[in-house]
Amino acid sequence: NEIQKVLREDLDISEISYKTWLESLKIVNVDNGTIVLETDDEISRGYIERKYSKPLQIAIREIIGEPYKLQFVLPNESITNKSDATKEKANQHVYNNLNARYTFNTFVVGNNNKLAHAAALAVAESPAEAYNPLFIYGGVGLGKTHLMHSIAHFILNENNASKVLYVSSEKFTNELINSIRDDRNEEFRKKYRSIDVLLVDDIQFIAGKERTQEEFFHTFNTLYEAKKQIIISSDRPPKEIETLEERLRSRFEWGLIADIQAPDFETRMAILRKKAELENLNIPNEVVQYVATNIKSNIRELEGAMNKIIAYSTLVHKEITKELAEDALKDLITPNEQKDITPDFITNIVAQHYGLNPDDIFSKKRTREIAYPRQIVMYLCRKLTDTSLQNIGKSLGNRDHTTIMHGSDKIGTEINKDLALKNTIEILTKKITGK
Ligand code: ADP
Ligand code: MG
Repeated sequence: NEIQKVLREDLDISEISYKTWLESLKIVNVDNGTIVLETDDEISRGYIERKYSKPLQIAIREIIGEPYKLQFVLPNESITNKSDATKEKANQHVYNNLNARYTFNTFVVGNNNKLAHAAALAVAESPAEAYNPLFIYGGVGLGKTHLMHSIAHFILNENNASKVLYVSSEKFTNELINSIRDDRNEEFRKKYRSIDVLLVDDIQFIAGKERTQEEFFHTFNTLYEAKKQIIISSDRPPKEIETLEERLRSRFEWGLIADIQAPDFETRMAILRKKAELENLNIPNEVVQYVATNIKSNIRELEGAMNKIIAYSTLVHKEITKELAEDALKDLITPNEQKDITPDFITNIVAQHYGLNPDDIFSKKRTREIAYPRQIVMYLCRKLTDTSLQNIGKSLGNRDHTTIMHGSDKIGTEINKDLALKNTIEILTKKITGK
């Protein structure tokens, strides 16, 4: 706290830079003249290291009275050159190697992760009673680790005597290998078989490692029989993990298997808004929309893009605007891959937005649920393509050009009175043009 105070007050670091880069730094180890600091992610690590090492060292020296070297690590990254004494000590805290930011409170629930979230919460509320094991799978950067830490935090919050152990499967493997090497296998077993809740992240990495699978199999059985909760994550479902022993595979399928998919547009928006809110940043809506429209595959990249914009704005001392965002992300987002914008394409996007089948739009049905989106399609076709009224009519189920004109004009007038409609049109336009 004192070091942070010096940074803020004496070293003239602006409020926003301080909040963005330095506030969440955590000291994870002090050893042999080196202070190890944990940063949120790769981008902040690189940037903080380059830009803030000096001020940090000055502030540290001022408070502690001695110079220290700095080492920056990511959450869960093992710290090298730790002495044995600190290793022992770290082991006592091992139940707590959790990222404080990864809680249920900061996890945005969307269609893509509803099931996994509900299952995780159920397991957190009733360990070993709801689903055992819980197996969460999904692609990179979609929130598996975040959910696992959320479960651990929740359980520890309810009962901090509970022995909750979170490990990556790599860490499990390394500890096993070391214990064999140092003849400490008993200790290893005792540690893993005496806990209440075991969370193993990215289990796919034990595939093909016979000895690790063997050991994990026994750990699993011991815990399961003692009615302890086991939570596992992987980048794919058990049946797709090649070279995973059959007896493990079948055990992973005993409980509940929940998947996390890529987030849809609305969820991406919500995640970015949540992030801005958590970091106390005021980010214009059009910037949030710009990022959510263009970065689709993975939430880590979504956050990375936002961090990049924030960093860029601090760097050039300019407010965050859409122009600034485009500038900051020009390497990530290739502007406008000149998608072919056709009436069919527009129909698909609008239909998807309203949960309709494109055929409904082309049909003769006249219920408002269908007629209204259809008029929106007409409006957008006129605005975003240079297709003639006749041809738009042909594409939309052979309608007369006057129908197209009427529908499109109607939306055009309503837009000026109806804010919600205006907003919808904006979102659809962005989805269609990618701009
Ligand atoms: P995975 O383990 O699946 O690779 P992570 O759990 O590490 O993914 O998530 C990557 C980043 O995205 C983390 O910073 C995490 O906080 C964030 N994230 C993922 N899903 C969500 C969500 N639903 N709400 C808020 N943040 C999320
Ligand atoms: Mg992960």
